[in-house]
Amino acid sequence: MLSLRKTKSAFGLDFQEMPDPRAPGPGEVMVAVENVGICGSDVHAYEWSEGYGFMSSRLPVTMGHEFSGRVVAAGAKAELAIGSRVTINPGVTCGVCAACRRDDARNCTARDSIGLTRDGGFAKHVTIPDRNCLVLPATVDMEVGALTEPLGVSCEAVLTGEVRLGDTVLIMGPGTIGQGIALMARAAGAGRVLMAGRADAPRFDVMRALGFDELIDIADAPLREQVLDRTSGAPVDVVLEATGHPTSISAGMSVLKKSGVIVAVGIHAEPVSFNLTDFVRNRHQLRASHGTSSYTFTRVLNLLGRDPESYRPMITHRMPLERGLYGFELARQRVASKVMLQP
Ligand SMILES: [Zn+2]
Ligand SMILES: [Zn+2]
Repeated sequence: MLSLRKTKSAFGLDFQEMPDPRAPGPGEVMVAVENVGICGSDVHAYEWSEGYGFMSSRLPVTMGHEFSGRVVAAGAKAELAIGSRVTINPGVTCGVCAACRRDDARNCTARDSIGLTRDGGFAKHVTIPDRNCLVLPATVDMEVGALTEPLGVSCEAVLTGEVRLGDTVLIMGPGTIGQGIALMARAAGAGRVLMAGRADAPRFDVMRALGFDELIDIADAPLREQVLDRTSGAPVDVVLEATGHPTSISAGMSVLKKSGVIVAVGIHAEPVSFNLTDFVRNRHQLRASHGTSSYTFTRVLNLLGRDPESYRPMITHRMPLERGLYGFELARQRVASKVMLQP
């Protein structure tokens, strides 16, 4: 089967013809992948930017962790029936380390990640533990279902930021995670959602299609000026950063209310510096959000099940797996927002 793989610790990805994965063992299922999104982290791994060296010892690996599909084979003790429509939680835990034994699976010390450190969904078939599968609600099709993982990251960030009813929220970075944060902040009851980006026209178009029109292009004027202009000088309640640009942290803090929470979600290739005295005097709360807890996936599936169509505009490009490298280039050049590949 055709597989899109990271084969070496350098720029690029390669197509390789691979044998079908082994038949599922106890507690495993084989999934026939129908839709698989290209994630920002996939693009970083493709470019081989800072922060992805952890993959080196696991190469070659078939990438792709944002996928949906159908269970086509099940091993002994697997709890999913053949034909089940699923998406996945990419974090594979060991079940035996100290963290796993105290029911703290997110902090498993032997954690594997489907599509980063073990074979993922940029291929027709993949064999994974059945406990990593999440059954899609009947109202959610495979395409929208493949948005579950990035929406989980966004949902976790909004929970970490404690967005509350009527809040004014500033999101920095209109990529998929930022778009998802906007949707989740709205679902959490945010009164106003401001989105900042830099010369990001295609992704601003997606934001409009999702129903958000308070868009700030920091190529036009400084962030602080534009935010305070819109809020009549009032600072915002919560800032959520999904850019990966180090300057965004201090820029975000410059418009955040005293005691306000700023959540960093972006993966930053460089260290950040900010004025610590202002930070202390303003009692700003800088928090990190990374990945998704298993209950957060349940929350996302509940939301998707209620109104799947409101998420579909996030997907701007659809193409067969064979054209995957073209899809990566579109994502990399920020021409595309979410690219869905169909193996
Ligand atoms: Zn992802
Ligand atoms: Zn463990």
